[in-house]
Amino acid sequence: MSAILAVLEQRDGVLHRMSLEALAAAQQFGAELHLPVFAAVLGHGVEAVAQTLAGYDVEKIHAVDHELLASYTPDGYAIALKQLIESHRSGYVIFPHTYQVRDFAPKLATALGRVLIGDVVGHRVENGALVLVRRLFQGKINADMRFEGEPPYFASIQAGAFRADALRSGTAKVEKTTPDLRPEQIRTKPLDLFRESQRAVDLSTAELIVSVGRGIKEAGNIPIVQKLAEALGAELAASRPICDNGWLPMERQVGSSGQTVSPKLYLAVGISGAIQHLVGMKGSKTIVAINKDPEAPIFEVADYGIVGDLFEVVPALVEALKKG
Ligand SMILES: Cc1cc2nc3c(=O)[nH]c(=O)nc-3n(C[C@H](O)[C@H](O)[C@H](O)COP(=O)(O)OP(=O)(O)OC[C@H]3O[C@@H](n4cnc5c(N)ncnc54)[C@H](O)[C@@H]3O)c2cc1C
Repeated sequence: MSAILAVLEQRDGVLHRMSLEALAAAQQFGAELHLPVFAAVLGHGVEAVAQTLAGYDVEKIHAVDHELLASYTPDGYAIALKQLIESHRSGYVIFPHTYQVRDFAPKLATALGRVLIGDVVGHRVENGALVLVRRLFQGKINADMRFEGEPPYFASIQAGAFRADALRSGTAKVEKTTPDLRPEQIRTKPLDLFRESQRAVDLSTAELIVSVGRGIKEAGNIPIVQKLAEALGAELAASRPICDNGWLPMERQVGSSGQTVSPKLYLAVGISGAIQHLVGMKGSKTIVAINKDPEAPIFEVADYGIVGDLFEVVPALVEALKKG
């Protein structure tokens, strides 16, 4: 097996935040499998963004540059990456599990006669090979998967499964490569990107988040947690039922169908910790949970847990913060 290649996502010169988590995963796999790690960034004029990765412990960063890669297309990305992977005989190819990757990575793997293990949330090494833990059926069950046959092996890493702050620093050189791409190979024409509804709140950059779940019981009780968010200077977020009920706007929903967040502090109030919620907040640096059920799954990911009635605990916390 030759090497690990982490394919990182960027748009307009800004790396997708899950890209660094995928690179952290690649570094960890590399350390455990004793394989060198390379990275690749695709686009047009991507040398500058590739350069921002030069401070990490990777062998080389490939800036895969072509005017036909200026906008994302599944054809362009699959063709360019196939050429890079074949010329470097990559062993493992690691992606962030973004919407874009879900779009083109299965096509790329198939073009090479291989498969993709998607939605990876964990790993271990057995007999010198990687065993990946992936989610199935909307996260209801997990499965261990091992690659069979010849490399390259493709895998995409779910948000929060690896921590970007665990990235090892080092020095890497950037190498620009120009894939052989022709306009007639690109069968879709990307037009302007747009959002159906403008998001007023960007929770992904919040440092402190207080998040409320169905334990709050009714809309009229939301001000109880709102006060805690205010006392901490935190953004208010919620689990899906709270937004589905219209108790808080949709843009405040955290989880697989909401926003993915990674604040310094995530305080989950009356949230059970369903998998669809966890995928959106597992990457938080410190997780504190308040729940009256000691068996609630949220406690499995929490760094600190308070087993208690939120209607007693939250006002007491607000009081203490005000005094502090
Ligand atoms: C396709 C799909 C996508 C989904 N996407 C998302 C998503 O993006 N985000 C998301 O959050 N969910 C999502 N869900 C829903 C998810 O499966 C859960 O149903 C949801 O997260 C549960 O929300 P909750 O924890 O607020 O409520 P519950 O699961 O009902 O938990 C309420 C918790 O409050 C506790 N509690 C009750 N009273 C008190 C009290 N007085 N004091 C303290 N604790 C108390 C209970 O012990 C319980 O643990 C999705 C589901 C599907 C199928």
